[in-house]
Amino acid sequence: MTNIRISYHTKEIDKVKLFLVVLSFIPVFLLSTGKGLDAENSLNIESLPGVLKQGEVCLIKVSGPDSLKSIYGEFRGERFPIALGEHNGIYEGLIGIDMGTKPATYEVKVVARNGDGKVYSGRLSLKVEKVVFETQELSLPSHLVDLKGKDLERVKKEAKQLQTLFQSFREERLWRGAFIRPVEGELSGTFGLNRIINGKQRSPHTGVDLKAEEGTPVLASNSGMVVLVDELFFTGKSVILDHGWGLYSMYFHLSEVRVKKGDRVDTGAMLGRVGSTGRSTGPHLHWGIKLNGARVDPLSLLRLGT
Ligand SMILES: [Zn+2]
Repeated sequence: MTNIRISYHTKEIDKVKLFLVVLSFIPVFLLSTGKGLDAENSLNIESLPGVLKQGEVCLIKVSGPDSLKSIYGEFRGERFPIALGEHNGIYEGLIGIDMGTKPATYEVKVVARNGDGKVYSGRLSLKVEKVVFETQELSLPSHLVDLKGKDLERVKKEAKQLQTLFQSFREERLWRGAFIRPVEGELSGTFGLNRIINGKQRSPHTGVDLKAEEGTPVLASNSGMVVLVDELFFTGKSVILDHGWGLYSMYFHLSEVRVKKGDRVDTGAMLGRVGSTGRSTGPHLHWGIKLNGARVDPLSLLRLGT
């Protein structure tokens, strides 16, 4: 700013100062809209939505040269995959904000190379806002809550089995385009509910409950691979799909399962039927999503509109 003359009157100097203050806020403003641009060899990065809430999925859209040979993202010290999307010249990746993520502003970094080894990069500020999750009080038979002996052993074993399953990462992206709701029907249990069962605080509700008649077909939310078909203590007859890139969808309390482990399914394929198996108070579908370990609201996937 060497071109500012110093012969201004005091009032004018104040105006200049104000102008400089306003200027210095512009980059912050640009970042807060969910867009970021680096100076050289830059990639244009956008997040959808621009501001996130705890427990939401975020679509990262990167536009850069068509000739990129490798591209990846980094969020909170972990790499996540990015690849060409459905639209020309736009690369896409998904980030899951776990329901327990501390509300703050985080940085997303994207690094890419073209065939000649030229490096491109871009950064984006991602604001995560706090959600006040509601509380739900439930009464259940005590033998389904205060577990003992064989039941307790079984539950521990099943929890370990699921934990191992979610640790595996499929490099290939199997999901394509928009996600669909697996059954129509009203939301009877929202995501993130703090659950008080028989007067005691229990683990939060990490999916959504969709109320539907027993026997209603349950459809695959997107294309993927069936990686679990089992009858589990809490979740009853259960199906889990691996959509690749660390994204899993879960369908619980089914009355009947129509697929088997290893099946490849397309979006909308029938996985089974709504039921009330496992620890359930009536026919409904519990639909859950895990994205690279993050517990996220399935309904936020529907809002991405990819
Ligand atoms: Zn549920």
